[in-house]
Amino acid sequence: MPDSKNNHNFETLAIRAGQKRTAEGEQSEPIFPTSSYVFSSAAEAAARFAGEQPGNIYSRFTNPTVRTFEQRLAALEGAESCVATASGMSAILSTCLALLKSGDHIVSSRSIFGSTTGLFTNYLAKLGIETSFVDLPDITDWQAAIRPQTRLMFLETPSNPLTEMADIAQLAELARTSNCLLAVDNCFCTPALQQPIMLGADIVIHSATKFLDGQGRCVGGAVLGNKDIVGEEVFGFLRTAGPSMSPFNAWVFLKGLETLSLRMEAHSRNALALAQWLEQQASVKRVYYPGLESHPQHQLAKTQQSGFGGLLSFELEGGKEAGWKLIDATRMISITANLGDTKTTITHPATTTHGRLTDEQRAEAGIDDGLVRIAVGLESIEDLKTDLVRGLS
Ligand SMILES: *Cc1c(COP(=O)(O)O)cnc(C)c1O
Repeated sequence: MPDSKNNHNFETLAIRAGQKRTAEGEQSEPIFPTSSYVFSSAAEAAARFAGEQPGNIYSRFTNPTVRTFEQRLAALEGAESCVATASGMSAILSTCLALLKSGDHIVSSRSIFGSTTGLFTNYLAKLGIETSFVDLPDITDWQAAIRPQTRLMFLETPSNPLTEMADIAQLAELARTSNCLLAVDNCFCTPALQQPIMLGADIVIHSATKFLDGQGRCVGGAVLGNKDIVGEEVFGFLRTAGPSMSPFNAWVFLKGLETLSLRMEAHSRNALALAQWLEQQASVKRVYYPGLESHPQHQLAKTQQSGFGGLLSFELEGGKEAGWKLIDATRMISITANLGDTKTTITHPATTTHGRLTDEQRAEAGIDDGLVRIAVGLESIEDLKTDLVRGLS
């Protein structure tokens, strides 16, 4: 079986890691739609339940198709262990409930997925787990927020929608000296462009719903890290609480991983071309994309990532009216807040993903009324420009 220890390269691992053929000799990975597994004797059943013999018991715990996905993603992220979850949010929930207890403290980037903010402030807070929010790129802000009770640092880089970046290696060092864990939600880059564990992060979180699937079909997630933290503690929570991935979804994500490198390269190429073109449009005030020379952290993006990714945003002259006009003038691009799809999507953050923030919170987050976010897909770049130029002029 190809694995990272045998020096197989990323593209090979993405296609072959984790596959264990059955006696049927199938070329493509099989789906195992079974809720439980059969034992050859009462003694074997007892040994499995006692943990004295390895093997499947029940699909809330383990499933062969899900395991193939876990092993393949672990190989791509350079992680010892991976547990697949029902969604990206349940990956974050499982991590927090497995590793934190009442009285513990989280330091999190302010620029994270809206539901993650909601999980921290509305639900973990109820359990006595407090979160402080900091400015993603500002290391002194992170340092100042750390307390003796801090157990977890949490971030996404680049951020959505403004593509701010954190220096993962620097924050990993801070986590180490502060005796807490660094978790990176690697949803936007995927391991094809950025490998946080190689940079010193302890935990990687995925919403597999996005680029890992890549074609907008299934909801899923994953947590990656070492054997003790993820293989034991997070897995222990998952098998008990039950937000497990279905084997059907795992199979779709496996097929997604096989084309991940190609797709992330193409997403990045299209996004850079579109960002450069947008920068030249008179009605566009500012473009946010790490691949642009004008991006304040362009140098960091070049060293930390092997590509700049598929997400960009830009500010229009004319505020909300101009933003909505541009969106409504498109005829092809999908008006939806999802991302990481072959189909390009467009959204107005101030009235959708960031619509529940107060005006003051929105200003603090840098979300201008004229801001538009595009998750660039794999259509022809010329067709994307044609679809946008109508609303820009
Ligand atoms: C979508 C998303 C999530 C949540 O994932 P789901 O699969 O929708 O639960 C978490 N983090 C980021 C960065 C996301 O974009």
